[in-house]
Amino acid sequence: MTSTVENSAARVPSWRTLPAAQQPEYPDQEALARVVTELESFPPLVFAGECDQLRARLGAVARGEAFLLQGGDCAESFDGVGADDIRAKVKTLLQMGAVLTYAASVPVVKVGRIAGQYSKPRSKPTETRDGVTLPTYRGDSVNGFDFTEEARVPDPERLKRMYHASASTLNLVRAFTTGGYADLRQVHAWNQDFVKSSPSGQRYEKLAREIDNAMSFMRACGADPEEFRTVEFYASHEALLLDYETALTRTDSRTGHLYDVSGHMVWIGERTRQMDGAHIEFASKVRNPIGIKLGPTTTPEEALEYIERLDPEREPGRLTFIVRMGADKIRDRLPTLVEKVTASGARPVWVTDPMHGNTFEAASGHKTRRFDDVLDEVKGFFEVHKELGTHPGGIHVELTGDDVTECVGGGDEIFVDDLHQRYETACDPRLNRSQSLDLAFLVAEMYRG
Ligand code: PEP
Ligand code: MN
Repeated sequence: MTSTVENSAARVPSWRTLPAAQQPEYPDQEALARVVTELESFPPLVFAGECDQLRARLGAVARGEAFLLQGGDCAESFDGVGADDIRAKVKTLLQMGAVLTYAASVPVVKVGRIAGQYSKPRSKPTETRDGVTLPTYRGDSVNGFDFTEEARVPDPERLKRMYHASASTLNLVRAFTTGGYADLRQVHAWNQDFVKSSPSGQRYEKLAREIDNAMSFMRACGADPEEFRTVEFYASHEALLLDYETALTRTDSRTGHLYDVSGHMVWIGERTRQMDGAHIEFASKVRNPIGIKLGPTTTPEEALEYIERLDPEREPGRLTFIVRMGADKIRDRLPTLVEKVTASGARPVWVTDPMHGNTFEAASGHKTRRFDDVLDEVKGFFEVHKELGTHPGGIHVELTGDDVTECVGGGDEIFVDDLHQRYETACDPRLNRSQSLDLAFLVAEMYRG
């Protein structure tokens, strides 16, 4: 009997015994256990070898040889798992990728916030409307968006829906990115429904013509490389729900290492990055490329400790610092972090998330962001790295391929009074397609400059 106890104890992963922030409180623990057992039997969504390949690509970013474009919804929704929505997001990322590759002449590593981004950490556990207080919405993987008591109860069955939604999304993303749609000869097609109406679409069209000319020239010279026909595209999400992530963590038969096979890259958010918490311990045990969000209160000592915990071998590509300080703080707070980390000999990927430090509530009650603040934080990020001689490794943004009205400003200007028109996000405000393209052009200029 003793050995059974020892065996089962040995199977409890190290992070299970540590405090885990932002986890749902399921009313029925047995139902949760049944779901977890089922999830453990499901096939991996990604392969360990693909995670290794992304780590190698991010290694190039860490060395200053490539740029990371990471973007997608704040929160994916189960209803959003449809061909149109997914195509629009992939298309926007491909267009941004083309702008950055061509205009900044740098290889772009493309990673979606996609196929797994269903869980949200929240700043408040409850929400009050018209005097009624209910548990907050924590993402479709946890509870329902509707403001009813019933919808807001955490339901473990939703973890299975998250798996299936991720699988269908990833299947379509793989089809789009390897099945001809991402062929660079389609640079115009990605823009078709968009060009006439928008300044950024017109600017893109001009760039697409230049890409076409460059490709015709190459073909005339006899070069038509395979790289023009498909695109490497990776999936990432916040590793928030440890029941789910643990059930999808498997030992790779090639290497004997653990991988979280729910996505290629996972990140730890600003609200769950406690040094002695379960999320950091979990991330330290899996071999995927790991991101960690660094907010304005991050100290250099903390940053160095994350490196010790998550990247003790100092392997370029293993660790990505996703900095989200806010436009008003980045120039002040980032330099010391970068300086001390660089002095330690570590080479993490440095990425700017110019969204999460710049959120405010408009008078209409909509949570929004100003495009100018987003841009200003990116500018600050580039300035700091230029000053220190380090590599501004990439951008991490919340965007959608649709013409939503969630962030104000941009070339096709959206005003505060327009926000209600198409405000569709389940959580944070996203850049629409035109704002995303504007950003890509401006980032390309900064990168060159
Ligand atoms: C997010 O990326 O949607 C998020 C919640 O970010 P952060 O952890 O940086 O607040
Ligand atoms: Mn968000």
